[in-house]
Amino acid sequence: GSVMEKVLQRRSWRLRNMQRAWQESPEGKKMMDFRMSLPAYKEKERLLSAIARNQVIVISGETGCGKTTQLPQYVLESQIESGRGAFCNIICTQPRRISAMAVAERVSTERGEPLGESVGYKVRLEGMKGKNTHLLFCTSGILLRRLLSDRNLNGVTHVFVDEIHERGMNEDFLLIVLKGLLPRRRDLRLILMSATLDAELFSDYFGGAPKIHIPGFTYPVKALFLEDVLEITGHKLTSFNQIDDYGQEKLWKTQKQLLPRKRKNQITALVEDALNKSSFESLSSKARDSLSCWTPDGMGFNLIEAVLCHICRKERPGAVLVFMTGWDDISSLRDQLKLHPLVGDPNRVLLLTCHGSMATSEQKLIFEKPPPNVRKIVLATNMAEASITINDIVFVVDCGKAKETTYDALNNTPCLLPSWISKASARQRRGRAGRVQPGYCYHLYPSCVYEAFAEYQLPELLRTPLNSLCLQIKSLQLGSIGEFLSAALQPPEPLAVQNAVDFLKMIGALDEKENLTSLGEFLSVLPVDPKLGKMLVMGAIFHCFDPILTIVAALSVRDPFLLPQAKKDLAGTAKSRFSAKDYSDHMALVRAYEGWKDAEREGSAYEFCWRNFLSAQTLQAIHSLRKQFYYILKEAGLLEADVSANNCSSNNQSLVRAIICSGLFPGIASVVHRETSMSFKTMEDGPVLLYVNSVNARYQTIPYPWLVFGEKVKVNTVLIRDSTGVSDSMLILFGGSLIRGAMAGHLKMLDGYIDLFMDPSLAECYWNLKDELYQLIQK
Ligand code: ADP
Ligand code: MG
Repeated sequence: GSVMEKVLQRRSWRLRNMQRAWQESPEGKKMMDFRMSLPAYKEKERLLSAIARNQVIVISGETGCGKTTQLPQYVLESQIESGRGAFCNIICTQPRRISAMAVAERVSTERGEPLGESVGYKVRLEGMKGKNTHLLFCTSGILLRRLLSDRNLNGVTHVFVDEIHERGMNEDFLLIVLKGLLPRRRDLRLILMSATLDAELFSDYFGGAPKIHIPGFTYPVKALFLEDVLEITGHKLTSFNQIDDYGQEKLWKTQKQLLPRKRKNQITALVEDALNKSSFESLSSKARDSLSCWTPDGMGFNLIEAVLCHICRKERPGAVLVFMTGWDDISSLRDQLKLHPLVGDPNRVLLLTCHGSMATSEQKLIFEKPPPNVRKIVLATNMAEASITINDIVFVVDCGKAKETTYDALNNTPCLLPSWISKASARQRRGRAGRVQPGYCYHLYPSCVYEAFAEYQLPELLRTPLNSLCLQIKSLQLGSIGEFLSAALQPPEPLAVQNAVDFLKMIGALDEKENLTSLGEFLSVLPVDPKLGKMLVMGAIFHCFDPILTIVAALSVRDPFLLPQAKKDLAGTAKSRFSAKDYSDHMALVRAYEGWKDAEREGSAYEFCWRNFLSAQTLQAIHSLRKQFYYILKEAGLLEADVSANNCSSNNQSLVRAIICSGLFPGIASVVHRETSMSFKTMEDGPVLLYVNSVNARYQTIPYPWLVFGEKVKVNTVLIRDSTGVSDSMLILFGGSLIRGAMAGHLKMLDGYIDLFMDPSLAECYWNLKDELYQLIQK
């Protein structure tokens, strides 16, 4: 009431005084000068009045023009200046946690405040905000989660949804929800921000919302394609046939399988043409001598190295940004470059990486000026395409690919694969080189391939499994899943929706009528993929919590086992030392984590990681995620108060195995033994191969009829990553539908067979706990 009003009013005045004091200070003035030099500043008044007059506006502008750091800040500043600071509540979403953190940090610096004062951030499992925070940067996932408990976003005055051109699943989802919310919250302001110019689409979606473009200035960037690059670097091809053995072509082949059919034919013809001896010769008349630039890793590392070497030797000063597909490639390339006499010389080159999981200290270095006569080279994922701006870039090296999940609804197979980017992304990448002066962009693919790129990337909603999303729709009580999704900007295929609903029914998150079960409710608040969430719950119920906790945390962070290109064998051997003949990569994860904890206690963690090819940073992340999950499950009442009770079955190997199976099902391959060889098969794909680093790839025989796995990747053949051997009984009891499994009838049916199971203790466990499971899947 009015007391609150008074408190807020007083706080608003205080905010205004602080803001003015900063703006009048010498550092504040200097910062203001910088901010006023950004293109967004010229549009400031126009933007503020458009926001005041319209409920929704769409803003576009070149990357780096000041959308993310300036626009929400303008709103905050003007509210504070008008004496209403404490009454406003601005949220700005980012597609990635790293950009939410980096941007919040930047904006608080620009305001001369520590992070967590008027500007804060919140990302999964982490945050910095206080009672005075009025501008919050968060991931789009966090805003969705907030909507779970606060359907009307009470108290929020402005929502900025940033980087909508990326068409991330969460952003598309948020837009449907917010569109429904706007009529209920007439005072709420929605501002959509996008880098490239497809503003029309979004404006139409919101009934013709006004669009504002921020004109930016960039310098021209010269685009060089593979044909030019080969010439410049002096790389030559001897025999064209050799290219068959090399990665680049393999990726092209894979690409062919994944592209929508129509464009597929078109691009196939072009690539084949480009790869065809005669036309390739015409692309690069001198390219003849050696194929050493193409490495079997499929990324053409040596070519990148050659380009970097050329820039360092021949080109003018200026930082270099290299776009790669993922952390694995970035770290392997970095290791390779460090050995290079020029590029690896720390006196001449500052080699940095920029990816989703980098440390904050490294993050800062990316934005800083290197010492004189030292060239900064940043190896980045497509994160550096739009959400992060590095000012001094003059050269861009573009491998032409990004790792994106593609999803084939027909055989329900998600695959994470490097695939060709769109023309929009290629232009975006190129633009990064022209921020401070004219620049160069080295595209490592022929220009004819560029011509065949799609204009824009397919929205994520159309290329990923919808499991988590459908669960969220249910828990947000947004009605029928199919109906809700048909309101999307570009709705997903009905088959993809059906697959997700079937999956959620199978794991017991939805009942037969598509209503959320207790398990489903719980899974929707657990910040992890529903199937891993289910594994956690099963681990808790069956009292083998610790190992399962480690596995789930590891599977939702990333693999802690490193696989440096040059030391694949050593790394594989090191990993297999953790497997203790139990035919399980997941158990190897558990042992590695436990070994690391022991080593840490003895003060030898560093050496332990080094010796075993483990990433300390990843293990640390797994460690903190473990803690978080633990608290969430404890809060939810799924854990016993007595810690050891949660683990009384942790040593029951076959039970732990069965729980892994319960989480990863239906990711399952059969083990086919022939006289001298062993192979693997899945129902959907036929023959599959194991990832080189899997412990199971090292055995001649595997004494289990099945392997369960969490992830498969399509690269020519289908590769399965981490796997664990499981028996028939584990599969029958724990794989498959919780609903059917826990129904008394089903168990009755199994009753007669229990004697036949190799492992009666497993059946007993199941039998004893079936009531508890049954409870879980009831409403
Ligand atoms: P946009 O969102 O339009 O791409 P940003 O608001 O992210 O642009 O960035 C605007 C400008 O602010 C950039 O061009 C850069 O000069 C500067 N900037 C952004 N982040 C940082 C940072 N962490 N450190 C230094 N300068 C930064
Ligand atoms: Mg931005």
